[in-house]
Amino acid sequence: MQAAAPLQPYSVERREVGPHDVRIEILYCGICHSDLHQVHDDWKGGIYPMVPGHEIIGRVAEVGASVHRFQTGMLTGVGCLVDSCRSCGPCQQHEEQYCVSGCVMTYNSYERDSKTPTFGGYSKQVVVDERYVLQVSDKLELSAVAPLLCAGITTFSPLKRFATKPKSRIGVMGLGGLGHMAVKIAAAMGHEVCMLSTSAKKAADAKRLGAHDFVLTTDADAERRLRRRFDLILNTVSAPHDVGAALNYLDLHGTMVILGAPPHGTQLHPGALIGGATQVAGSLVGGIKQTQEMLDFCAAHHLTADVELCGADEVNTAFARLRKNDVKYRFVIDMQTLN
Ligand code: NAP
Ligand code: ZN
Ligand code: ZN
Repeated sequence: MQAAAPLQPYSVERREVGPHDVRIEILYCGICHSDLHQVHDDWKGGIYPMVPGHEIIGRVAEVGASVHRFQTGMLTGVGCLVDSCRSCGPCQQHEEQYCVSGCVMTYNSYERDSKTPTFGGYSKQVVVDERYVLQVSDKLELSAVAPLLCAGITTFSPLKRFATKPKSRIGVMGLGGLGHMAVKIAAAMGHEVCMLSTSAKKAADAKRLGAHDFVLTTDADAERRLRRRFDLILNTVSAPHDVGAALNYLDLHGTMVILGAPPHGTQLHPGALIGGATQVAGSLVGGIKQTQEMLDFCAAHHLTADVELCGADEVNTAFARLRKNDVKYRFVIDMQTLN
């Protein structure tokens, strides 16, 4: 498959299980909007053929001789990264996603040898070093746990970093895969959550997911209602939009964390930041240790994603619907349907 081509069956050879490796039979894999961006080479530099997928749930089928955290039959998760240098500052601080040498992403990346491409979770199996494998509770619906491996950690991480008041006032922009997990997790943490959406039809869902309020940002009086209202905004919007306008929704010294990664941005007028002494930050998924913390938090609070399960032969349809903003709120592929 080349950039922007429909997905089609492709054979992948996984490496032999090394002493520290775990071979995982994949049960479910979520479809993240990042898969769509990368299949379409929105971020440039894509490696093709590409096998997307970084929201992986599976069962251990084989372990290397030196593996001690996993045994055959255990439930596991694999998220967005599968290796890193392990010695730089960020790696030492459990922030492997910011590895100075560049972490090894689960797909559309190269192994540490800089030449072996990685292939993701839209597949039957994956072989991963145990340090980058997560432990998953068997108490939750597994298909609905898969999206936690990206959408869950990507929203949990900035909440841990920036929602420092016990009851922070949080705006979540964009009710999609990330947005719906942001609402659930922020509400479970005890924060006050307002959904900021461009889709009127999502209002009832936002409340059901745990949002205390819903504002349609395209409404004529939205700007007035939202002005200087939040301590923190998690911006999950996947398409170019006016970031500066949304900065007016932040209270004094408030922070907007950019999570959405549209193919190109919009200009930010300095006045938008200066006027309210606001700040803009970025955040990329989360480190392995924090991903485990997030999975444990979600298990303790019975939090999972709202998913639409699809077969491997329906992935192109799911992509088309995701592009049209038509999913409630994450597609997950049942990998047992892949032959
Ligand atoms: P998604 O399920 O498609 O949700 C994106 C949401 O953005 C939509 O539900 C929609 O919400 C809003 N939106 C879409 N087009 C819009 C437009 N033209 N104007 C305004 N709002 C629009 O996507 P996702 O999987 O949550 O991913 C969201 C973004 O985060 C993607 O760009 C993805 O690549 C990125 N991402 C980043 C990280 C990271 O580590 N930072 C991790 C994963 C994903 P409403 O209908 O409510 O307006
Ligand atoms: Zn993702
Ligand atoms: Zn490193």
